Amino acid sequence: MRRSMVAGNWKMHGTRASVAELIDGLNRQALPADVEVAVFPVSVHLGQVVEGLKDLAVSVGAQDCAVEAGQGALTGEVSSEQLRDAGCELVLIGHSERRLILGDSEEQVVRKFAAAQVAGLVPLLCVGETLEQREAGETLKVVAGQLDSVIDALGVAVLANAVVAYEPVWAIGTGLTATPQQAQDVHAAIRAQVAAKDPQVAGGLRILYGGSVKAANAAELFGMPDIDGGLVGGASLNADEFGAICRAAGN
Ligand code: PEP
Repeated sequence: MRRSMVAGNWKMHGTRASVAELIDGLNRQALPADVEVAVFPVSVHLGQVVEGLKDLAVSVGAQDCAVEAGQGALTGEVSSEQLRDAGCELVLIGHSERRLILGDSEEQVVRKFAAAQVAGLVPLLCVGETLEQREAGETLKVVAGQLDSVIDALGVAVLANAVVAYEPVWAIGTGLTATPQQAQDVHAAIRAQVAAKDPQVAGGLRILYGGSVKAANAAELFGMPDIDGGLVGGASLNADEFGAICRAAGN
C-alpha cells in the first residue's frame, strides 16, 4: 500500500514576512497522519521553513540542486549535500520550468537526480508533455523518454527511493487541469513502464499528479488508482487551501 503524498512547490514566491505567515497558517492546519506532506520553498527560506515547521510532520525540500553532490567551484549553485545539511529531505528534479525556461537538459536532470541520492535526498522527478506534444499524440512517448533517461543511466532500482510527478506542462499555472482519466492514463503508463523492468519497484512507486490542483478538484484526481497524491504550485501558497488538498489525499 503506497502512502499518499502532497507536495507544495512554492516556486520563486515569498519574502521572509510572507513565508512566516504561511508557516503560521500551516501550523494551524489539521493535516492527515496517513499523508506525507512536503513543502518546497526557495533556498534562502529553507532555514526559516525548517525551523518554523519543526513541530509539524511536514518535510521540507528544495526546488533544484547542483549536478555535483559536494562542494566546489560552481558559482550560484547549491549542492544536494548543502541542502541536506540545511534540513532538506527531498528535492524537485526536472521541473518543467527548469527544463523549458532555464534549459535543464536530460543529462543535467539525470546528474541532479544522482547527486540528490548521493546526499540522501529523495528526488521528486517531474515529467510531462507540452500542449503541442499532447496535440501531436506524443504524450506517452515524451513522458516515457523522460523517465527512461533516468532509468537507462542509473538503473530502475533508483526509483525505489524516489517519487515521480506527472505534470502536463499545459496544466501548470494555467487553471487547466488534466481530467482524472487523462492523468490516470499517463500514471498507469508510467507504472507499467517501470513494472516491465521491476514490478516491485513499480508497485511501491508514488506517482503524483501536478497541474492546477486545488481543493475543489483534488479528491477526484487522488481517487484514481495510480494517482498517489499531488504536486501543488499556486494553491500551496494558501495554507487553508493546501491543508484542504492534503486532507483530500487522506483516507
Ligand atoms: C507546479 O509548479 O509544479 C504546479 C503544478 O503548479 P500549479 O499547481 O500552479 O499548476
